[in-house]
Amino acid sequence: MKHDDRSDMLARIAEEFARNAYRTGLREPDPRVHAAMARLPRERFVPPDLVPRAYEDSALPIDSGQSISQPFIVSLMSSLLRPQPHHRVLEIGTGSGYQAAVLAGLVREVWSVERLPELATQAIVRLRELDCRNVHVRVGDGHLGWAEHGPYDGIVVTCGGERVPGALLDQLAPGAHLVMPVGPEHDQRLLDVTVGVDGRPERRDVLGVRFVPFVAAAAPLRAHFELFEQQDHVGVRGFGATVAEAFAQAARGLTALSTDPGRVRERRRVDFSCGATDSQHLLAQWLDAVARTMRDEGLVFARFEVRIESDLLHATGFGEPIDATRCAREWAGFRASADAAFVGLVPEGWLAQCASAL
Ligand code: SAH
Repeated sequence: MKHDDRSDMLARIAEEFARNAYRTGLREPDPRVHAAMARLPRERFVPPDLVPRAYEDSALPIDSGQSISQPFIVSLMSSLLRPQPHHRVLEIGTGSGYQAAVLAGLVREVWSVERLPELATQAIVRLRELDCRNVHVRVGDGHLGWAEHGPYDGIVVTCGGERVPGALLDQLAPGAHLVMPVGPEHDQRLLDVTVGVDGRPERRDVLGVRFVPFVAAAAPLRAHFELFEQQDHVGVRGFGATVAEAFAQAARGLTALSTDPGRVRERRRVDFSCGATDSQHLLAQWLDAVARTMRDEGLVFARFEVRIESDLLHATGFGEPIDATRCAREWAGFRASADAAFVGLVPEGWLAQCASAL
C-alpha cells in the first residue's frame, strides 16, 4: 500500500464533488467527513486480493455478492447527513462496515442493520479491531429499521429499493436527513429526504447511482444477534422465534466476540443471553443442554440467570475469564464457582454446529 494512495483517493473525491456540484448542491465534502475518511484504512474493509485497489474511487466486491460503496458516494452520503458530534445515526446495510466506520468518527452512536449474518459478523470483528466502539451492528431486516434506538438524527440506506420504507421515516427525527438510493436497478436516484414537524416528507433528487438491491424479506427475519459493551463487560444477545434459533444467533455473536479474547479479558465479564418465544416448556430441557455443552466445551459461567418476561425467555450467563488450560484442568462438571469462566474453544465445537444448523 503506497503511502499516497489515500491522499489520491481524497483528491479524486474532491474532484467528483466539484464536477457534480450542480446536481448535488454540495461543492465539496463536509470537512469532518473528509478528515474521517483520511484517517480510515479502507484496505481493511476489502477482500485480500483487492487490497491493491482499496483506494480506487470505485465500488469493490465484498463477500456474499455484495459491495463496498465508491468512496465519493460514501463521502457524499455522509456529507448529506450533516453529521454532528451529538448525533445518533442509523445505517441500513452494514456490508463491509466501511460507511459505519466513517460515521463512527463523526457522530456519537451508529446503529447498523445487516441482512446477512456472515457480513455482519465480519464487520463486527473489523470494527472492533479498529476500535470503533460506538457502532452497534445487528442482523435483521432493514425495512423495519431499529425502532428501539430511534428517532435518529440521520439515516443512511446503502442498498437500493423501490421506495423509502415507512418504518424508516417513522424513525427519523424532524428535520433530520434520510439518504437512500431509490428506483429500479437501472435507474436509481440518490434521494435526500427530510420530514418536517408536520410529518410530511420532502424529497430531493441528488444524483443517479447504482447500489446492490435492498432485499425485501419474505417474512420479517425472526432471528438476530446483538453485541454490546458496557463499562465492565461485553455481551451477546441472541433472539429468535425458537430456542434453537435464538441460541444459534447468540452463538454467532459469541463467535465474533471470541476473535477478540483480549477485549473479553480486559472487561472480565461476558453476558450471554437468549430470547425466544417458544421457550417456556423447553426451559428445563434447554438449560440441561446448555449445561452439558458448556461443560463439554469449557464454556463456563459463574452465574446463570433465567427470567421469563411475557413469553420471552432470557437466560444470562455471567463469567470471569480464566485461561483455557486451567479451565480444561479444573473443570469437571457444570458447577458455579467464583472463578468459573467464559473461555474460548468456541469456534470449533458446539458454536460452529449451532451456526451451521441455521
Ligand atoms: N455500507 C456498506 C455497503 C454495503 S452493500 C459498506 O460500506 O460496505 C449493501 C448491504 O445491504 C449488503 O451488505 C446487503 O446484504 C445489505 N442489505 C440488502 N438488503 C437488506 C435488508 N433488507 N436489510 C438489511 N441489509 C440489507
